[in-house]
Amino acid sequence: MIKIGVVALQGAVTEHIQAVKNALADLNIKGEAIPVKTKLPSLDGLIIPGGESTTISHLLLKSGLFTDIEARASSLPIMGTCAGCILLAQKTEGVKTLGVMDMEVERNAFGRQRYSFQSPLKIQGFKGFFPGIFIRAPVIRRVWNNCQPLAWIDDKIVMAQDKHFLAVVFHPELGEDVRIHKYFLEMI
Ligand code: GLN
Repeated sequence: MIKIGVVALQGAVTEHIQAVKNALADLNIKGEAIPVKTKLPSLDGLIIPGGESTTISHLLLKSGLFTDIEARASSLPIMGTCAGCILLAQKTEGVKTLGVMDMEVERNAFGRQRYSFQSPLKIQGFKGFFPGIFIRAPVIRRVWNNCQPLAWIDDKIVMAQDKHFLAVVFHPELGEDVRIHKYFLEMI
């Protein structure tokens, strides 16, 4: 029985919970997904959803979750999507991040004219395309040490993994395809 927490301060929380449930069912794994608002319970994995990274960072600090996550990060698998991805990065501008992944992230990197768009993505190890939904998305500018890029749009990295951390600049919880959630569950 595995337990996945979804940080429930802002963003697409119910969609992530549903995607985890679907992914668990597909993989035939017994488990549950629960919202996390204050204290971190005992968990096998944590998801930080999209939203506004400055707001999520502020609310994480205020709720005490920031220090809880920092204290457990050496062994807790974490997936961050969009703003959640920004929270995982060691380097970015204007946001206090958890800094657990060796990568630099640029916020709102697709600019105003590409505020929100969809793009089929080739992801390392995935068959066919994954439908990427981008909403004021950041990009991963560079990675170092053991951080591995897993998908690109042109020269921009849009998904990366560093040990037990997974960063996705788009919104895998907003579509029907739960392969990224399955990938994360398989990292646990
Ligand atoms: N642009 C947002 C930020 O900088 C992220 C957008 C999102 O999570 N959809 O936090």
